[in-house]
Amino acid sequence: MRFEVVTLFPELFDGFLATSIVGRAVASKALHVRCKSPREFGIGRHRNVDDTPYGGGSGMVMRVDCIVACLEALDAEAASEGATDAAIVATEAPPRAHRILMTPQGAPLDQARVQEIAARPRVALICGRYEGFDERVRASVDEEVSLGDFVLTGGEIAAMAVIDACSRLLPGVLGNADSSVSESHSPAMDGLLEYPQYTRPAEYRGLRVPEVLQNGNHAAIAAYRRAEAERRTQERRPDLWARRTAARGQQK
Ligand code: SAM
Repeated sequence: MRFEVVTLFPELFDGFLATSIVGRAVASKALHVRCKSPREFGIGRHRNVDDTPYGGGSGMVMRVDCIVACLEALDAEAASEGATDAAIVATEAPPRAHRILMTPQGAPLDQARVQEIAARPRVALICGRYEGFDERVRASVDEEVSLGDFVLTGGEIAAMAVIDACSRLLPGVLGNADSSVSESHSPAMDGLLEYPQYTRPAEYRGLRVPEVLQNGNHAAIAAYRRAEAERRTQERRPDLWARRTAARGQQK
């Protein structure tokens, strides 16, 4: 899978793309990430990418022409590399990346959306700064995604969250193929949060690992985990529990 990131701060991605599971995904070529700055397409001697808002108001707004020129340059680079880049040829990447605007006004990122994004061969993530984007950028994107109901100073952390969550779904990226299957929010969990996990020591400051997990009775362990997953979903996320209950009611 290939991500292209439009960002004024490509250097923010250096450590992220070289570390841990994402770093391994990049090294194994399961994941390709290219960052490009709209500053390359900036206006005038100072390569300005922002300007004051029409109608007045505080702060600066990112220009539509610089962002779209950056997206089109990334598409052109991908197309010209297509003949030699086996990963892109193999996935029959379209000439235009699927374009996602990172914005607090977008659809909230959840696991279902992550799965949809991870199934695409090429995705462009557009990171804003300042007061955000000229509204006309929206005519050149395919969807808008938010990391949550809060405001970041820039879209880079949100873009990293998308890349991180997608990379662990790519074939061969996680050591244990099952690791991404039985986690909170994954389809196999049937709308439940994951059950509690324990490791050694068996007792820590009076807190004991439940007996049932230590006796090797796999049927009993599965039943315990299921009951715990249900209990904690009801307690912690009544919204998820209600959605699951409604979906099950419709199935009957
Ligand atoms: N004025 C904008 C608004 O009210 O919608 C917010 C601008 S924010 C300070 C600057 C940039 O950070 C945004 O253009 C966006 O790319 C990014 N950003 C901020 N919060 C975000 C969130 N919750 N999810 C995704 N991106 C976010």
